[in-house]
This record gives sequence, C-alpha cells and structure tokens, in this order.
Amino acid sequence: MTSELINTKDLPKVDPVFGQLSFDNHEQIVFCNDKDTGLKAIIGIHNTVLGPALGGTRMWQYDNEWEALNDVLRLSRGMTFKSAVAGLNLGGGKAVIIGDAKTQKTPELMKKFGEYVHSLSGKYITAEDIGMETSDMDLVRDVTPYVTGISESRGGAGNPSPITAYGVFMGMKAAAKYKYGSDVLEDKKVIVQGIGHVGESLVEHLTNEGAKVIITDINQARLEEVKAKYGAEIYTGENIYTLDADIYAPCALGATVNDTTINQLNVDIIAGAANNQLADEQVHGKILAEKGIVYAPDFVINAGGIINVYAELEGYGKTEIMRKTENIYNTTLEIIKNAATNGVTTHSASLAIAKNRIDERKKENQK
Ligand code: NAD
Repeated sequence: MTSELINTKDLPKVDPVFGQLSFDNHEQIVFCNDKDTGLKAIIGIHNTVLGPALGGTRMWQYDNEWEALNDVLRLSRGMTFKSAVAGLNLGGGKAVIIGDAKTQKTPELMKKFGEYVHSLSGKYITAEDIGMETSDMDLVRDVTPYVTGISESRGGAGNPSPITAYGVFMGMKAAAKYKYGSDVLEDKKVIVQGIGHVGESLVEHLTNEGAKVIITDINQARLEEVKAKYGAEIYTGENIYTLDADIYAPCALGATVNDTTINQLNVDIIAGAANNQLADEQVHGKILAEKGIVYAPDFVINAGGIINVYAELEGYGKTEIMRKTENIYNTTLEIIKNAATNGVTTHSASLAIAKNRIDERKKENQK
C-alpha cells in the first residue's frame, strides 16, 4: 500500500527519525495529528533517568517537518542537560506545535494538545515556550495535570523570566570572579542583546550594580523604554559584535557566536540567556577558550526558568526558588575552574557534570 502512495526512491537517504543528525538516543518521539483542530505537533522525550521529561511547548511556523523535528530533538536534549546540571530531578523533553501562534492557535487546539500530553501519563510535562502564554497552559491544565507555567491563581509559580534573569546575573558574576578576581560588576561595560522579558530584568540588575549597560534590540520602542527606565545606552553603531566591551550577554537569539562573529568579538566574558549561543558547540567553544574569552554556558546560567516551574511540581516557594537560582553562581564558577584545570571547554565541562549525574542515577536505579 505504502509504495503506491510514496515513490520511495525520492525519499531522502537519511532515515527519517532515528537517522537525524540531532537524534541523540531519544527515548520516545510522539507525533500528534488531529484533523478537526488542525493540530500537528511533535513531543520529544530525550531522557527520563532523573525524572519526568519537562520542557516547554513551542508554536512556530516551521518551513517544513524536518525543521520541526530537528528543533524538538535539539531542544529536548538541551533540557536533559539543563535540569541535570541544575540538580533537579527532571529529565529532558520539549514539544513543538507546527503553525502560526497568532492565527492558528485556538482553545480547542490547545486542549487537544493537552490530551496528547495526558496520554503519556506524566512521562512528559509541558510548560510555556515561544508562542505560548500562561492562558494556553491553563487550557492544557483543563485536560491534564501534567503541565506547569499555569496562572498563579491555579497554583502556578508565575512568570519565570525575572528568575531566569537573576540566574544569568549570578552566572555572569561567577565568570567575572574568575576573570577579574572580583564579581563586582560596577563600571564593567556590558552589552545586553535583546531586551525582552529576560533582557530587561538583567539590565535592571546590572544598572543597580553600577555597570555601564549598552542595549541593542530590533524593537526601537523597547529600546527607548528600557533606556528611559534604567538609563542604559542604546547602541547606534553598525555591528554590535565589534564593540569593545567587557561582557556580552546574548538575550535574543541562538547561534550568535559563529564563524563570523567569533573573530569580531572584543569582550572578556560571554554570559547571557539565549539558548544554543554557540553555533557549533565544539568548534566555537574551543576558539573562545583559546582567545581567553570566558564563556558561561547558556544551559547552566539560564536554568532559573526551569527551577521556577519545578517549584510547581515540588511545591516549594519563592525562598527556595531564589536559593537554587543563586546557586548558579557556585555551579558556574566550579565549571569554569574545572574546564581550565582539565583543558576542556566550559561547555564540555558542563556536559560532563550532567552526564555523570545521569549515569550515577542510572546505576542507582538498576540496583
Ligand atoms: P523575548 O521574546 O521576551 O525577548 C527577546 C527580545 O529579543 C525581544 O525584545 C526581541 O525584539 C529581541 N530580538 C529579536 N531578534 C533580535 C536581534 N536580531 N537582535 C537584537 N534583538 C533581537 O524572550 P525572552 O523570554 O526574554 O528570552 C530571551 C532568550 O532567553 C530566548 O532565547 C529564550 O529562549 C531564552 N530563555 C528564556 C527563558 C525565560 O524564562 N524567558 C528561560 C531560558 C532561556
């Protein structure tokens, strides 16, 4: 039957799922399709050794299904390592819904997605990501308990962005401690790229400490707003990557440390909130180390958000959330020192901590 429908000789030679470059021994991948609501989603469960796979749902108009699959595979893997390094009893998962969140997202579609999440019996727990709002998570909560990031009135832990920003600030301070011998950021020139939910809160911490903050964003209105609030300087030059500064904090897009920018960057430290900052983890991580630029790994220092939603599952409050997030300082400093001692990149040193924790737990579970 299949061969009548598909001319198999025209299919890409790589195996469609397990053969993808970003496939990393993921435990389970669930393809969700509902004709009535138009839902097309993929749930990626990377690893559940430490606990249920928790990670947000992203709604995005992908160019094709390969892109969506690649994204969910990559992001769910990242969640495994983020939670493992943060010391949380959580595995890594993520979901993507294919479509335009502005025009195609309906309450019915969100509830149907919730039913798919529920069918996994708690092996995957969802949360917000790009294209999702707290109100969407509330709709998912109507059909399944396996969701976080819901409204505070329904038991949610609230907006994670200020917590994420605080963790990034802690990671940045740890990198400064290593590089300058002091974690005081007063008078340090810091570029904050992207002054959205996390970036603005980071600007607030930095200006409170007396840092000289330079902001850049594609949204001019936001720039004026943040400048007026905190007195930050708006970057007006041609190429932000060439600016002579102490610290670069990417808080907008991933892959901004790439073949082009790596030779332009003129900073001592890179520490920001964006996911997947290194276009190539191995290659660019190594070049940064060779150039003496201290890189505070993104998935280590942006874990505040996941620490915040974990509170909903464990029932701990704001004090414990802040304590765990503050600890990002110690973890980052330890990672940077380890990397230097062992001659590896900070990215590899972080991965090693995560993998070690997972391996240890696997052994315990097998006893
Ligand atoms: P956001 O959408 O609120 O803000 C992103 C900002 O970046 C916006 O102001 C946008 O205009 C700007 N931007 C987009 N493209 C840009 C470009 N080319 N140059 C400069 N600015 C640009 O997002 P957010 O919640 O603040 O998250 C920021 C980053 O941190 C994202 O990469 C996100 O994945 C990551 N992150 C966020 C959290 C969280 O708790 N929100 C947790 C972990 C990681």
